[in-house]
Amino acid sequence: MGNVIDSYACSVTFPIKICFTTIVADDGKIIPRHATIFPTNICNLNCSFCSHSECDRESSIDFQHLKEMVKEGKYFGFRAITLSGGGEPLLYNSIEDLIWFIHRQGIEIGLITNGTLLNRIPKTLLNKLTWCRISMSDNRDILNDNIVDIIRNTDITWGCNYILTENFNRQLLLALLKQAAQLDFEYFRITDDQHNDNIELPNIKLPEFAYYFRRNDYMEPGGACYIGLLKPTINVDGLIYPCCHPTTMKRLDSKNAIAVSIQELYDKQPVFDGSICLKCPFMQYNRILGKLKSITHSAFL
Ligand code: SF4
Repeated sequence: MGNVIDSYACSVTFPIKICFTTIVADDGKIIPRHATIFPTNICNLNCSFCSHSECDRESSIDFQHLKEMVKEGKYFGFRAITLSGGGEPLLYNSIEDLIWFIHRQGIEIGLITNGTLLNRIPKTLLNKLTWCRISMSDNRDILNDNIVDIIRNTDITWGCNYILTENFNRQLLLALLKQAAQLDFEYFRITDDQHNDNIELPNIKLPEFAYYFRRNDYMEPGGACYIGLLKPTINVDGLIYPCCHPTTMKRLDSKNAIAVSIQELYDKQPVFDGSICLKCPFMQYNRILGKLKSITHSAFL
């Protein structure tokens, strides 16, 4: 078992991964390396804890436009794309073509899904992903025979995000932890319901691959926000937003978009005013990126 949190979580943690990749170009600009795409707001579930419950449930991004953005992103530095939502990404009309397209660009792909539609995607295509994270909760016993068969017959990293609600089900959580261990899940993240600050994980001894991640531990936003330069979020409206953090995105409309294209993002290096945000999961990134943008004598380590 490697370092589970540093490998599979990117919010709250110290961003150790930036040591592995050049993230500042010679001209001092931050390079967009990892995009999150919300291809559609359409969803087949109606979860009480949904972080996007206030968005319109009809919209999807135009596929031609998205392909252009991915190609542009590749040119400017994308190494990875996470497909998320919004809605359920597997309900995007062109999801298979999109995965093939990103894969052909040589960009790694992660998928965050509610898991209910995984059996619609050919296994050869699932094997093009680097990882897949299934969202689970107190009322969602998703690891049924269909999913287990898919997990066993794909060669990618599987993980889970389990959301605690006021209907906490201890037996279900323990059963899923056991099943996830048997299926060699790399990690099992447990988070609390962002709509209810009073929910906490009761006293349970977690196995080594599981960790509890409290949204209350997010930090106070510091104002200048740079993470959208490194990790842009492409929303269903085709615009680029400063972060994929759901409670922030819920409050963002197009006037908070930071760019209309990856080229504009790179050229103009827009800094978002994070003071409108309630809590920030990426403050450690923001602090480091802010310093990197103004450093000189960088060769003198
Ligand atoms: S300041 Fe706001 S927009 Fe920026 S990373 Fe934090 S939560 Fe996201």
